Amino acid sequence: MTSVAVIGGGISGLSAAYYLHRNCPSLGIKLFDPARRVGGVIETTMQDGFLVEHAADNFITTTPDAVQLVEELGLADELIRPRNSGRQACVLSRGRLRPIPPGFIVMAPSQIWPFLTSRILSCWGKLRAASEVFIPKRRSTADESMESFVCRRFGQEMFDRLVQPLIGGIYTADPKLLSLAATMPRFPQMEQTHGSLIRAMLKQKKTGVTESSGGARYSQFMTLRGGMTKIVGELARNLPADAIHLQSSVRALKPLDNGRWSIRVAGRTDGWMDVDGVVMATPAHGASNLVRSFDRRLADELSSVNYASCAVVSLGYRREQIGVPLDSFGFVVPLVEKRLILSCSYSSVKYEGRANDDHLLVRVFIGGACQSTLMHLPEDQLIELAEWELGDLMKIKCAPVMRTIKRHLRTMPQYHVGHLDHVAEIDRRTEQWRCLRMAGSGIHGVGVPSCIKSGREAASKILNELNCRLPALSQAT
Ligand SMILES: Cc1cc2nc3c(=O)[nH]c(=O)nc-3n(C[C@H](O)[C@H](O)[C@H](O)COP(=O)(O)OP(=O)(O)OC[C@H]3O[C@@H](n4cnc5c(N)ncnc54)[C@H](O)[C@@H]3O)c2cc1C
Repeated sequence: MTSVAVIGGGISGLSAAYYLHRNCPSLGIKLFDPARRVGGVIETTMQDGFLVEHAADNFITTTPDAVQLVEELGLADELIRPRNSGRQACVLSRGRLRPIPPGFIVMAPSQIWPFLTSRILSCWGKLRAASEVFIPKRRSTADESMESFVCRRFGQEMFDRLVQPLIGGIYTADPKLLSLAATMPRFPQMEQTHGSLIRAMLKQKKTGVTESSGGARYSQFMTLRGGMTKIVGELARNLPADAIHLQSSVRALKPLDNGRWSIRVAGRTDGWMDVDGVVMATPAHGASNLVRSFDRRLADELSSVNYASCAVVSLGYRREQIGVPLDSFGFVVPLVEKRLILSCSYSSVKYEGRANDDHLLVRVFIGGACQSTLMHLPEDQLIELAEWELGDLMKIKCAPVMRTIKRHLRTMPQYHVGHLDHVAEIDRRTEQWRCLRMAGSGIHGVGVPSCIKSGREAASKILNELNCRLPALSQAT
């Protein structure tokens, strides 16, 4: 029987396995993961009446792959959007939580008046940011860091007080190193096309493309009523019963002279086995270790993708204990405020069904590339730290009624300047190996929809190389 091994059982590997099976049911599929459950970082648990997301809690719908997959899995009835009320985010500004000006999208204002009347920036900071319309566009189109781009166009203050915390909240990254081209290519494109981001935003507003909330465009996000784990559970359920091998880690991989692959698995499933194709859906550093024995250059390129760690502390409170209005979806914390948390999301305000009406569930993010030393603290101290910071910022006087923590060690890829060059080289070198494909957040996009897409594309390429008939895949791609 023709067979394909999928290494890694996160959303990327599961998607690859699902599309392989859906389009070629006779194919033998073997998915390996050292964990006790599938899903990788995605995990939803119920704890003391709270529905806790330990990593991704929603996905963007402008990249359609996640919605399409959810619908295909028969879970369309489960899809929910963020609540209508409270669709804004706050930022900590000189010790106080203030709303991000309506119309401020990640790094540029699309509405001038709310931006000018907001008290987040000083008068000088606003004036410097507004002068963006006069800053000439950059001649070079080479990749640039997020910090360099924003400071060049809008000034340091807007970067420190608005953009850094918003970007930190999304990528847990150091914006000095983060590649603009790999993470938010539409902003340099706006600069090149319109000469100014403000001008481009105002133009888009006239055509109705932007929305008025500050921070994220919440109407573009969705999740599942029962949590993100539903997707990974359903993907696993759609695979043949003998496909998934948990507590089984792939330790070695080598190409064989006959064009097949030999893999060494250790754990509950143990030993060498030969397969016809391989989808590598581990973090890039794991993939690097596996390819080093037969392609050093590919291994070096894969290991050039840096990873950060973070912790998510989930805390449940009685609503009456909270001393600030819960009229937003949470807040982000600029590094210049010198606090020990990155952001706090009011999960049960954002989505229904996360807590009882008289309780609040929050998720506090700690660590990331800029506060990596905090990851050395033991878990109980990280929880204490989150409680202490929230107590101060949200004026909470009592202890939470529920607390839990998840550490994510080296699971958050950091797309540094030059990332797209590494990706091109990784793709080029991988192409040279028959039926070997990469999927996963480390290469073509960190969001859940991009991971699903990477899994589907890896499946599609392998099936093409194996000459499997692809009746439905052409529709999906
Ligand atoms: C805290 C946090 C919050 C996030 N929030 C969002 C969000 O709200 N929206 C969004 O779209 N995205 C979000 N993301 C990003 C998104 O969840 C991830 O990018 C995505 O889930 C990664 O999936 P993956 O399958 O590529 O990798 P992973 O989930 O990391 O899975 C990789 C798997 O490979 C396995 N593996 C490693 N080595 C081996 C080996 N040798 N053999 C076999 N298996 C191996 C691992 O055990 C793991 O299960 C968030 C991520 C984190 C960490």
